[in-house]
Amino acid sequence: MTPRFDARLGALPRVPLITAPTRLQPVDGVAPRRVFVKRDDENSPVFGGCKTRALEFVLGAARAAGATAVLTAGTAGSNHVAATALHAERLGLRVTALVLPQEPGALVTRNLRLAAGAGARLEPVPAGVSVHPDRERHRAAVAELLGRGERPHVIPFGGAAPVAGVAHALAGRELADQARELPAPLRVYLPAASTLTAAGIAAGLALSGLPFQLTAVDVVGNPSAFGPGLPARARDVATLLGGPADAVRPEHVRHVGYAGTPYGLVDPHAERSAGLLRDAAGVEVDECYGAKAFHRMVTDVDDADGTYLFWHTGSTRKAEEEVFTPVHPDLACYLG
Ligand SMILES: *Cc1c(COP(=O)(O)O)cnc(C)c1O
Repeated sequence: MTPRFDARLGALPRVPLITAPTRLQPVDGVAPRRVFVKRDDENSPVFGGCKTRALEFVLGAARAAGATAVLTAGTAGSNHVAATALHAERLGLRVTALVLPQEPGALVTRNLRLAAGAGARLEPVPAGVSVHPDRERHRAAVAELLGRGERPHVIPFGGAAPVAGVAHALAGRELADQARELPAPLRVYLPAASTLTAAGIAAGLALSGLPFQLTAVDVVGNPSAFGPGLPARARDVATLLGGPADAVRPEHVRHVGYAGTPYGLVDPHAERSAGLLRDAAGVEVDECYGAKAFHRMVTDVDDADGTYLFWHTGSTRKAEEEVFTPVHPDLACYLG
């Protein structure tokens, strides 16, 4: 990795939230050969996973700007909203989240309980109403916070702020350092929505010079909704870090659809693979993201050269059964 990479990182405000490197766990018995799991779910006991890596820089920027509060948005079961609620409130930043409806399920219940329990203000927004910062609903939320004397810092939907790409690139570099002894190329699989996590990891791996192929498994079903595709995003992160844009080559990244059930719905094939992973290695993955991407990797494993690795992007933190914090009645249906 270039010295410029480190110089740019040194200049970025950051708050320490994670413990890294997270381990690479070898797993036998889920595929015709040994696979590895990057246990990023273990990066924080408060709430782990990819969203927390991103928040080190996202909340660093909020603090550097002198914010007293953060305003963000996500679906009802958003890992980003839960992670923000838990980590920002610990830093003394008050959290408001605009919350869009989602299919109910275990992940949604867990995340809403955690976010509400952390003290975040969760404001339900009906389906079809935009929460984009240019639109009325978001502007009203900013105005309301200003009216209460807060200095709000805006975090984009799902946490996909450009600076998050830097956090994921660091994660990619961390993996490159750990994987040098493993048979090349490294075949990395992870779930994707906006693809920022995948793009950052790809950029970090590419700038480290390790032979790899990263497969981002779309679990949302509408990848084009998120603007530039994965290769362009990965090149953007590489350039943001002072690397050459062509460090990320077309053969480095694949963006594949998940050919099963839509976002948030339980897929029986994915659940079977998740069950194998739980039994073989004690690793829990959620039904919305992890199970589907892991299943895709398991079905892809063949005699190709290299090492198959599943990146655990989720958090395995459990929520208390009872939430005593009142939530908006429109959200109560998710609490189970
Ligand atoms: C947000 C998230 C992702 C994907 O994030 P993007 O960067 O938007 O592609 C993957 N897995 C989990 C568990 C997530 O919470």
